[in-house]
Amino acid sequence: MDIEQFRKAGYQAIDRICDYYYSLQERSVVSKVEPGYLRQHIPLEPPEKGEDFQAIADDYQKFILPGLTHWQHPSFFAYFPTACTFEGMLGDLYASSTCNPGFNWLASPACTELEAIVMDWAASFLGLSPAFTNASGIGGGVIQTTASDSVLATVVAARARYQREHPDVKLEDLVIYTTSQTHSLGSKAGLVFGVHVRAIDVDLDDQLSLRGEALRNALEEDARIGRHPFILIATVGSTSSGAVDSIPEIREVAKDYPSLWVHIDAAWAGSALSCPENRGVLHLEDFNAFADSVCTNFHKWGLVNFDCSALWVRNRKNLTEALDITPTYLRTKHGDAGTVIDYRNWHLSLGRRFRSLKLWFVLRGFGVEGFRTYIRRCIELNNLFAQQVKTSEHLQLVTKPSLALTVFRLIPRPVSPDQPKFSLGPLNELNRIFFGRLSARDDIMLTQTSLNGIFCVRLAVGAARTTEEHVQQAYDIVSKEAKVALESWEQ
Ligand code: PLP
Repeated sequence: MDIEQFRKAGYQAIDRICDYYYSLQERSVVSKVEPGYLRQHIPLEPPEKGEDFQAIADDYQKFILPGLTHWQHPSFFAYFPTACTFEGMLGDLYASSTCNPGFNWLASPACTELEAIVMDWAASFLGLSPAFTNASGIGGGVIQTTASDSVLATVVAARARYQREHPDVKLEDLVIYTTSQTHSLGSKAGLVFGVHVRAIDVDLDDQLSLRGEALRNALEEDARIGRHPFILIATVGSTSSGAVDSIPEIREVAKDYPSLWVHIDAAWAGSALSCPENRGVLHLEDFNAFADSVCTNFHKWGLVNFDCSALWVRNRKNLTEALDITPTYLRTKHGDAGTVIDYRNWHLSLGRRFRSLKLWFVLRGFGVEGFRTYIRRCIELNNLFAQQVKTSEHLQLVTKPSLALTVFRLIPRPVSPDQPKFSLGPLNELNRIFFGRLSARDDIMLTQTSLNGIFCVRLAVGAARTTEEHVQQAYDIVSKEAKVALESWEQ
């Protein structure tokens, strides 16, 4: 493809993307294809001779689009929606066009310098302590691929720090602390590094939040048996229910365990810190005061297209001392002098995408005000849904709604006041039938979860085009399927 052919194909691609967005609402949210569908349409070997790009672009429309689940659909309420914006897409396009693996300052000074500045912008508008900024010269922010990768980099740094402070401790005695509500990234980090993971139990009565006492008990127990917890992955806004660990209590306990690295996983809820009214419930002031690292995914609730996981550390040296390997071919004058950031030493890979460009485009395009308006709208829309669940005849909130997430289940109405309560087994069975009905539909998408043995349904608001009408429609569908599920269960 030459430059003029690219110009033509590029104009067409943008036209088709615009048409896609215009037609989004008419599409079903969930793809209707069956497993293996694509093998019937795509040859199993690459072509011997290059093909005309028009044919390739047409095949994308014909074969790929029908197999997509439309995450930007306004009735997508599953997982955590990934609000995507045209500003971000354009940022990605420009970034792809120059193809910079900007691993060190010299590899592309603008990539490093923009990331350092934009991560400071982000820290500032989320209300993070100046200690986490690149401008501090001690802490700093870096964009990673995912929250899981952010944890991997953090665990390496925490392990190296712990081993420096306790040189006699054996690798097999190290433990990563999580809770039963931590995202699977905690267990995955344990698998990758071959260290134990201890998931501390949390209680529904505490809204599934890790309490100080449970943490202290675990630490004391592990000390007695010679185990060494070196990092706690605390969650601010858990995946299943939006639970927020008790950071003030964790802070108190951490005072007695100065070698324990505390990482705040705010992959989803971090974006809500942009609004000052959310900072109290998310314990910003506390984690600002003592956490070693904080992560939030702008690719979740932050209007930036995947991938853009922001990680801040209080002391960048912990990352660089654990991850800096500099063979001769990577040495540079500025790197040797220590006058620049070389981001290759802040994460696991060497090459890295120029992700700060899309974050910059989005933050400038929306401004702090526009970003906050979007977050507040999602929370309001979720409240609208949660309010109806609260007053519904058959539905019940399982936990308090958290920001833009509601977790609920179906409960049969007692026929008489002295009717015995349904036990968990049959209730879970009923809710599986209920969720089965919801997930058989293609006009809406929600996800299931389990909270301390209770099977529940989650609804998360986040798609940029979701309006009150879509949320009302979602409630009507949920309510209708609940009634049908109940009727079939009671027969
Ligand atoms: N942490 C939380 C609280 C999440 O909700 C998720 C994903 O939903 C993750 C981490 C994992 O994010 P990633 O896919 O960026 O690794």
